[in-house]
Amino acid sequence: MGGDAPKFAQQIRRANPNLPVIIEPLALSTHWATEDEPFLRRGSDNTFQLSLDAELDWQRMDSDLAITPTGQIRKNDSAALKAALREANKLDRADLLFAIPVAAGWLSEPQLTKQLIAVINRSRHPVLLTFTDPTNPVGSMSRARAYRQIFQEATVPVLAYRADLVGFDALAHGAIASAIGSYPKLRRLTPVGGRGGAIDREDMSPHMMITDMLRIVRSTHMRRDWFAGVNPIHCFCSICRGEALDRLHGEEPERRIGHNHNVVSLDSLYSLYIDLDEPGRRALWARQVAGALDTYPQLESHIGRPLKVDNILEKVWATTS
Ligand SMILES: [Zn+2]
Repeated sequence: MGGDAPKFAQQIRRANPNLPVIIEPLALSTHWATEDEPFLRRGSDNTFQLSLDAELDWQRMDSDLAITPTGQIRKNDSAALKAALREANKLDRADLLFAIPVAAGWLSEPQLTKQLIAVINRSRHPVLLTFTDPTNPVGSMSRARAYRQIFQEATVPVLAYRADLVGFDALAHGAIASAIGSYPKLRRLTPVGGRGGAIDREDMSPHMMITDMLRIVRSTHMRRDWFAGVNPIHCFCSICRGEALDRLHGEEPERRIGHNHNVVSLDSLYSLYIDLDEPGRRALWARQVAGALDTYPQLESHIGRPLKVDNILEKVWATTS
């Protein structure tokens, strides 16, 4: 991501020669798609402009896959969405993902979700699907249901990109892969020009993945609220090595430890899915969701009061559809 991405990609490649490295085009975070300009292309301001194909060849010098430089698609802007599809479908290459970064509002209305699914299913290329929102694109039950519906009804391979734990629900319902962020900004696309969710300067402590609960909770919240009067949960991942899960504060080195805990935790959860077929993934997800629901009463009896179970966990992920 970002203008320095090729430089970082080279460093990562040098350190991990066998690791595939894919660079996200700047367009996804900086360009609004329109019917005339669904893609952001180098040299757009000058007289000389590369063809889209040449642009993608250029991308491939740094990236193991090409991704269409699609701009963000506003809610209801079917014209821009269809223009992007039309242009992407003209490309004849096997190394391409068609990026669809759409406003989360496309999940809020059934006819928009249906339209989005129709566009995905007309793509000649696998789709990289991501939603833009200042906070949490898939934060309500109706959006979580619509999100699942997309993967269930897609007949073209779809990658759930910049997702939170909803990426596992996607995997269980047909996504070919999920890219799940280790911190909030990587779990969504912020609308072009926006600054993202409100930042509480007082509290920059990391959000910590709690695998058993399928939940991500801020360290400070656990420390002040859950474990103020009782022993905290301990984490035995390779980063925490038995230390308390609520120990981290907002300074940069501590935030980094928290994000590394998330990388390790997400990776070990994700790795369970790799070799499973779709029914296997669905069964595993159902067991994990049931396990997460079972964890609540245990935690409640430990801290001595009820906790609110996440609606999406209880009423969307726990239901089969
Ligand atoms: Zn840990």
